[in-house]
Amino acid sequence: MSDVYASILSRIQAAALAAGRAADAVTLVAVSKLQPWDHIAPILDAGQRVFGENRVQEAMGRWSERRAQVELRLIGPLQSNKARDAVAFFDVIESLDREKLARVLADEVQAQGRAPRLFVQVNTGEEPQKAGVIPTQADAFIATVRKTYGFEIEGLMCIPPAEEPPGPHFALLARIAARNGIARLSMGMSDDFETAVRFGATSVRVGSALFG
Ligand SMILES: *Cc1c(COP(=O)(O)O)cnc(C)c1O
Repeated sequence: MSDVYASILSRIQAAALAAGRAADAVTLVAVSKLQPWDHIAPILDAGQRVFGENRVQEAMGRWSERRAQVELRLIGPLQSNKARDAVAFFDVIESLDREKLARVLADEVQAQGRAPRLFVQVNTGEEPQKAGVIPTQADAFIATVRKTYGFEIEGLMCIPPAEEPPGPHFALLARIAARNGIARLSMGMSDDFETAVRFGATSVRVGSALFG
């Protein structure tokens, strides 16, 4: 097994145990965007099965031939005109953040008879350039996608502002999830995944620390 991969897995487990959680409470999502195949292959060979991608077309190019082996999560913003491919290709879409997208996804799920699991992305830092529903609108948005479109929301996802301590953002995401009865939290990246685990992350999205 690659040393880097083994060390990321053991850091996740140690952080979970230190937080009084089960060693296997947190799923590693290996973010393979932009990576050449020779960086991904050793980690796939070592047993990693969950990968994150942020562009639909790029993911299809990278994974089409090996699709059955892995769980693929879309973690980047999703344009409505890519919804058809995203529903057809991904196991999980983590970037649901607006009603128009919910409507288009619902239509595609109906048409294709295939339903990716869904996370709502929350823009915890209310950054204008970032995707995600803003925190004060999160409850209403979650209620709408549940009621109007019949979706189950598996989790919430956030990407805290790069220049702020992430802890308060992770705590905010956890509070929004708790009050909406949502169990899963996708939060934490290379620089802060241990903090995210402490705040209750159930999956962490790690790219550069894993692939260099
Ligand atoms: C690229 C990306 C990551 C991984 O970031 P690293 O800092 O390289 O670990 C995680 N989440 C999202 C949404 C990303 O786009």
